[in-house]
Amino acid sequence: MKALVYHGAEDIRCEQVDDPQPQDLDSAVVRVTRAGICGSDLHIYHGHGFAPESGYVVGHEAVGEVVEVGSGVRRFAVGDRVLVPASTGCGRCLACDHGHVARCDNGMMRAFGIGPALAGSQSEAVAVPAADCSLRTIPEGIDDKQAILLTDNLPTAWFGARRAGIEPGDTVAVVGLGPVGLCAVGSALVMGASRVFAIDLLEDRRRHAELLGAEGVGGDDTKEIVLERTQGRGVDRVIEAVGGDATIRLALSLARIEGSVSVVGVNQNPHFDFNMALAMVKSLSFHIGLCSVQAELPTLIPLVLSGRIDLGRMVSHRFGLSEGAEAYRLFAAREDNVRKVILDPTR
Ligand code: NAD
Ligand code: ZN
Repeated sequence: MKALVYHGAEDIRCEQVDDPQPQDLDSAVVRVTRAGICGSDLHIYHGHGFAPESGYVVGHEAVGEVVEVGSGVRRFAVGDRVLVPASTGCGRCLACDHGHVARCDNGMMRAFGIGPALAGSQSEAVAVPAADCSLRTIPEGIDDKQAILLTDNLPTAWFGARRAGIEPGDTVAVVGLGPVGLCAVGSALVMGASRVFAIDLLEDRRRHAELLGAEGVGGDDTKEIVLERTQGRGVDRVIEAVGGDATIRLALSLARIEGSVSVVGVNQNPHFDFNMALAMVKSLSFHIGLCSVQAELPTLIPLVLSGRIDLGRMVSHRFGLSEGAEAYRLFAAREDNVRKVILDPTR
């Protein structure tokens, strides 16, 4: 089958690889009908992935049809239309039972396509371990684009907003307006934020956030603008969706005294200079973590179905899987007002 394979920094190729094989009786194989490219894939693309190896199939956002199930799989059958969330767990512990794969009691959270251990889903088909725990049925009324955003970006944004502790009337800042940040804007508004300051370097992404109901803020004096618009107090809640040192520092500086900062952007700097004294003086709450997509979906599917969270204009570009190299290049370069890129494995 065709799949996108990582060969080193800025080198993703569409190649023939072996068809996926179910690893055990609890596994399934899903024929991928659409795959997404995530900001997390860009860390890999730029050579900053978690795994030192290359030569593995990338991607962790997919929707498709079940084509094979092991005899241990109870909840899914061949022909089911499913979404394949970004990661899974052991599938046998209490945490996994409730969808909390990131806190799998057996420490077996596994993400697709971030290394050779579990092949990714930017491919014609993907093998899914612990299928009953991993997969979710796509309800009638959710289209492929919405389903792709439900595999990772929206749940991550909601998780970040939830952990920021947003309450009705709160002022919120979202730092970084990629698909995760834009979904965080929508999440904050649904949670009752009175004002959302949407911060990004890119004007078209700020404009998109404004269409969702936020106030776009950009430029060198972002912090001053937000402070001025909050009478010098800072915002109640900050969601960071970039993962840069500078943006986490900005997030910490935007929160008011006794405010909270919730980081979902991936940062791998073990020497980040966290200003403990400032955090202490401000009595800040600080949250950071990986999202268990499966745990957030029961809340989010109804919100998407009802249109309360509008994902309608999020996807800006569609490429064939065979054009994967160009799709990555364009998304990484943030060209052509790109927001979210979807791949079609039939092309
Ligand atoms: P993206 O790359 O599309 O978006 C990042 C945005 O940040 C871009 O719009 C960029 O212009 C903006 N940005 C960069 N530097 C900035 C700066 N100095 N000031 C303001 N804005 C700046 O990525 P995405 O798909 O939206 O993902 C966002 C982050 O979330 C990534 O780090 C990704 O790895 C992470 N992520 C985390 C989880 C989790 O479970 N915690 C899950 C999925 C994604
Ligand atoms: Zn992702």
